[in-house]
Amino acid sequence: MSDTIEKVKCLIIGSGPAGYTAAIYAARANMAPVLYQGTQPGGQLTTTNEVENFPGYPEGITGPEMMMELQKQASRFGTDVRDGWITRVDFSGDVHRVWVNDHKEIHCDTVIISTGASAKYLGLVSEQKYLKLGGGVSACAVCDGFFYRNQEVVIVGAGDSACEEAHYLSKLCSKVTMLVRRDVFRASKIMANRVKNTKNIEILFNTETEEVLGDGQVVTGVKVKNNVTGELTTIPATGFFVAIGHKPNTDIFKEYLELDETGYIINQPGTSKTNVEGVFVSGDAADHVYRQAITAAGTGCMAALDAERYLAAKEAPVEA
Ligand code: NDP
Repeated sequence: MSDTIEKVKCLIIGSGPAGYTAAIYAARANMAPVLYQGTQPGGQLTTTNEVENFPGYPEGITGPEMMMELQKQASRFGTDVRDGWITRVDFSGDVHRVWVNDHKEIHCDTVIISTGASAKYLGLVSEQKYLKLGGGVSACAVCDGFFYRNQEVVIVGAGDSACEEAHYLSKLCSKVTMLVRRDVFRASKIMANRVKNTKNIEILFNTETEEVLGDGQVVTGVKVKNNVTGELTTIPATGFFVAIGHKPNTDIFKEYLELDETGYIINQPGTSKTNVEGVFVSGDAADHVYRQAITAAGTGCMAALDAERYLAAKEAPVEA
């Protein structure tokens, strides 16, 4: 336990585009925000090479650079950006209690949750190798598909995300091979049919990834196995897309906040408000549909404005 309890007007948890945008707005509104970066400062974008679809960067920018710019902008207006991981919360009272690294206790008037979601990966050594090298493994077709124009790619997954991403890729790439581990899609019929009816998408059912092949720098193909016949095949490809779902980083909130069945925080429609007063959510922690840096930034702005209005209403003198 910590000896002293810090009091904070606005605590922001998470350091992706949602968290930093919330920080920029909160700092400019004199809310003296404190932002904890978490274990992956900069969030998911730091695993992306080039960001070309965030407005305002006509030449593109790398994910890590963009996060550094956002951090600088948040700090410029006085955000206190700190290392640290929020390990526990207690939202049961008027003051929201939060613990950093299981030790330091903070009492917050408002909390903005921007903890994001993490893409799931298969966990193969070869997949992780080329992911870390930035050599052709991606979990976001909208972010990275453009780099594989007129090339052959492989995508793994059979849900709505995989279908949507395969379809997106089919418009850019010469061929998309889709690996489905069972003999059926999980996706809705309409999404599955769209994929089935697209000429340059080949669907391989009962097929699992054995290994992502490469030359040590970039992906050159994927070794796959038919789990019924045991047959091994190599598919030439320069890109390997993983679309097997995301996990929102919301475990520590589940005791207090309403989550949907997959763990996304449920916000009140059109706002960043959660079911607990003074606790707001922004970015991918509440968004399984859009999941873009720009939408996360937009909801970060909403969360800061909602927090500011909440505080203003609380602090306003009660009329007789
Ligand atoms: P889902 O959990 O729905 O699907 C994940 C898919 O990945 C499943 O087909 C699963 O296979 C497969 N998978 C999981 N692990 C592996 C593995 N190790 N190897 C191979 N395949 C694997 O996630 P989504 O991200 O697709 O969707 C999440 C939610 O968002 C859903 O509710 C979906 O409907 C919604 N969504 C809606 C969209 C829309 O309406 N436009 C767009 C995108 C998402 P299996 O089926 O065998 O378990």
